[in-house]
Amino acid sequence: MPTITPKLAGLKTRTEQLVETVVAPRAGQIDAECLWPREAMSAFAEAGLLGLHVPVNHGGQGQGLLALSLLTETIARACPSSAMCFGMHCVGTAVIAAKATDYQQDHYLREIAEGRHITSLALSEAGSGSHFYLPQTSLVQEGEGYRLDGVKQFVTSGGQADSYVVSTQASDSRAAGDFSCVILDQGTDGMEWLDPWQGFGMRGNSSRGLRLVSARVPLANLLGEPGDQVWYVFEVVAPYFLTAMAGTYLGIAQAAVDAAGEHLRMRQYAHSGESLRDVETLRVRFAEMWIALEKTRGLVQRAAQLGDAGSPDALSFILASKADAGETAVNLANEAMTLCGGFAYRANSRVAQLLRDARASHVMAPTTDILKSWAGRHLLGLPLL
Ligand SMILES: Cc1cc2nc3c(=O)[nH]c(=O)nc-3n(C[C@H](O)[C@H](O)[C@H](O)COP(=O)(O)OP(=O)(O)OC[C@H]3O[C@@H](n4cnc5c(N)ncnc54)[C@H](O)[C@@H]3O)c2cc1C
Repeated sequence: MPTITPKLAGLKTRTEQLVETVVAPRAGQIDAECLWPREAMSAFAEAGLLGLHVPVNHGGQGQGLLALSLLTETIARACPSSAMCFGMHCVGTAVIAAKATDYQQDHYLREIAEGRHITSLALSEAGSGSHFYLPQTSLVQEGEGYRLDGVKQFVTSGGQADSYVVSTQASDSRAAGDFSCVILDQGTDGMEWLDPWQGFGMRGNSSRGLRLVSARVPLANLLGEPGDQVWYVFEVVAPYFLTAMAGTYLGIAQAAVDAAGEHLRMRQYAHSGESLRDVETLRVRFAEMWIALEKTRGLVQRAAQLGDAGSPDALSFILASKADAGETAVNLANEAMTLCGGFAYRANSRVAQLLRDARASHVMAPTTDILKSWAGRHLLGLPLL
């Protein structure tokens, strides 16, 4: 078990209460109608959870990766789409906080900590697909600002957040992989949101394309130094993004075990009075689900703790944690579908939703195969890219 400080325990309890009263009751509708989880995000804001990664001296909670994994798991157990939107906000916040200037602290971090500002990530592009660290969006300095041109895809909370952390080619470099990050405010001239999201799963995360045509960004919105890409990718984006996703898929895996356990206890045959939990094979399969869940939980929490401690071993664990949590979520949701029988094999049953949501893990970059390849490189002393 990880060491959980009293403060983190309090944040987790607060999250559990919100999940029960606000998140869970709306999860079915969010999936069925592709609704962005507005009430959940407002409740997180009021409870001070949006400032999870804002330093305490700027009014935030000052938490790290373990908090992110625990809270995204707690939310995803009820509503994976809500966990995705919350998680992307947290990653965006961590990226802003990493090297925030005085202006960025006042203008963004304090607003986030006070629950008045939601952010998100706009990294992926159709051109480079899952190789999100190779943006083609251009950043050109013109006078007192930058001009942004390009097309982003799959922006979580697209059109709903107050700002987006956008990756671009570095303004002074044409070399592949030299990128910068800027904060783009919602409503900036030159932003055009593309078609609304109709995903196979994660249907409530409003993940949309964004066209940028001569969008103007103040110089003050550049994060770090121009071309700070390597530092941002490995020190901030990767650990926070992978932990948010690992927590989310762990929550889905837990929900699959919950659903299977409930069905095995409740389903009773009229002809014999026997319930499904009386069947030896099903008990064994259920125990195997639970073992897989707890192994993954151990890996995810260990990775988060090593990351928080700044351990040199953390990277392999963090890479593996998202890969493993994604696989466990898909496998357990699939297994729950078998154990729950016809009850689950309905369009839009709870288990069907979990299976659809879990499948996003293998599409969202860095994808499972790429993560394992990177972990192997790191373990064998090779550079990741
Ligand atoms: C629900 C959801 C939410 C998302 N939210 C965000 C967000 O908030 N912000 C954001 O920036 N992006 C987001 N994304 C985008 C995501 O991270 C990926 O960039 C995107 O899904 C890649 O899609 P693609 O079809 O272009 O992949 P492709 O690059 O075409 O890849 C297709 C398949 O080929 C595999 N592949 C490609 N190259 C290799 C290789 N060298 N080795 C092994 N396998 C390889 C990939 O792993 C993948 O399985 C989101 C995606 C989804 C589904």
